[in-house]
Amino acid sequence: MMDVEEIFEEIMITPSNAPVYLLHGEEVNIWDEPFEYYHSRSPTEYIREKILEFEKSGKDPFPDIVGKEKEKEMVKTALMSGSSILFKGKRGYGKTTFSKAIAKLLPDKLLAIKGCKIHDDPTRPTCFSCKKKVLHEREVELEWVPRVWVRIPGDPMMTTRQLIGGISIQKIREGYDLDHPEVFVPGRALKANRGIGYYDELGAIPTALQTLLHELFEEGQITTPEGDVVPFHLNSIEIASTNPANYRGTSPIKEPLLDRMEQIEIGPPESLEEEIEIGLRNSHYRKMEEVAKIPVWHMKILARIVRYARSKRCHIASKITSEPSCRATIKLYDHVISYAIRNGKSVITLEDYGNNYDVVKLALGGRLEVTYEVETEKEKIIEKLVEEAINRTCADIYATIPREEFNFILKEILSMGYKMNGTIKIELREAVERLPEFKKVNELIQTLAEDKWMRLSALEILLESIGRCTGLIRREYNHYVVEYDETRLQAM
Ligand SMILES: [Zn+2]
Repeated sequence: MMDVEEIFEEIMITPSNAPVYLLHGEEVNIWDEPFEYYHSRSPTEYIREKILEFEKSGKDPFPDIVGKEKEKEMVKTALMSGSSILFKGKRGYGKTTFSKAIAKLLPDKLLAIKGCKIHDDPTRPTCFSCKKKVLHEREVELEWVPRVWVRIPGDPMMTTRQLIGGISIQKIREGYDLDHPEVFVPGRALKANRGIGYYDELGAIPTALQTLLHELFEEGQITTPEGDVVPFHLNSIEIASTNPANYRGTSPIKEPLLDRMEQIEIGPPESLEEEIEIGLRNSHYRKMEEVAKIPVWHMKILARIVRYARSKRCHIASKITSEPSCRATIKLYDHVISYAIRNGKSVITLEDYGNNYDVVKLALGGRLEVTYEVETEKEKIIEKLVEEAINRTCADIYATIPREEFNFILKEILSMGYKMNGTIKIELREAVERLPEFKKVNELIQTLAEDKWMRLSALEILLESIGRCTGLIRREYNHYVVEYDETRLQAM
């Protein structure tokens, strides 16, 4: 029988007072290789050690996070100091990804007391039943557990039982077995023991429960609403997120809790390149081989659509009240690829944006909100964003055409098509087959598209760019048309 007072004591096992530890039925010396690294250390100690290792080698400890140099620096400092972190920002900018990237600095597995609901450390157990085992049993079985990262979703209906768990000192006094569910069923906060507890939308956790969290964040211990101090000394790193856009007025996170966390803002990607990188890395098609490929100009157009929708400087975006996150970029890439594959294509062209840009609307429609008075014009607003993004990207491409060769290039383009009813019609697929006949255009296409598969798309964007910047060529369905004007041609 265990003394009730014993469960309040902090226990520290050393080789001199240790029981026999068994792993898979075999006796092991946990202070020897290869076990020594996987116990008796707190998550903060592991992370601190890893960060220093990375600093020494000059490498980035968070390679999963694109950009965000300043934020990474703040995270490193906060973690080194053993602080809890609150990521502030709108959804879709990588708060969860950041918390998972931090977890990756922990060992991929830990040595734990077998069957423990909070994977107790063999040398410093915290739950009643493990304390009893290491103090009173001759042999204690161990097991490997994977790295701990527990998401604790902010839920206004959350109960103490869900957050902290069912813990009853009274039942122990009455003689219940320590493993009995009425004595101890851990809640999510306790399950984060030895790892990371990620409080997703911390402000949505009821105020009364937030009060319990102060102590947990500060001292690793908890007082139940009945006033009992729970005899757990948790060893976890608390990371939380909050989206200020979800709340009006005052912060839903109470001041004392805010005071215990370092706040770090996570905003949208700073550059177009970062936006593209995030879109590509997270694409549904990233690891598949037989997919339609996206040339860089389409990567730019699609990422720009999203960035213009967020931009304070873009006049079209002034009617947008809720901006699209990186998920919009990711889904834009996915959807144009899907559309191209459905049409049996191996490379993205403008037609994959859909009729009236419907494919873009699919990715953006639910991810941006517009002001009440233009609600019925949301589709028009998206169309304008697409036009703006194509114009900008085409202007860049047009600027790469050597001025002194422009007339010559235009003549070559005209000879790609055939005359019909006073116009010249250029079929892209036919023209791309005959590219070697057109020396200057071919050179330009080669500079745009290194790979052969890209050429069709490159020729299209070249014609589109000349068309948008000069008005000499226009797109009709899937081909390009030049108004045929003999005198104008002769003048060239
Ligand atoms: Zn335990």
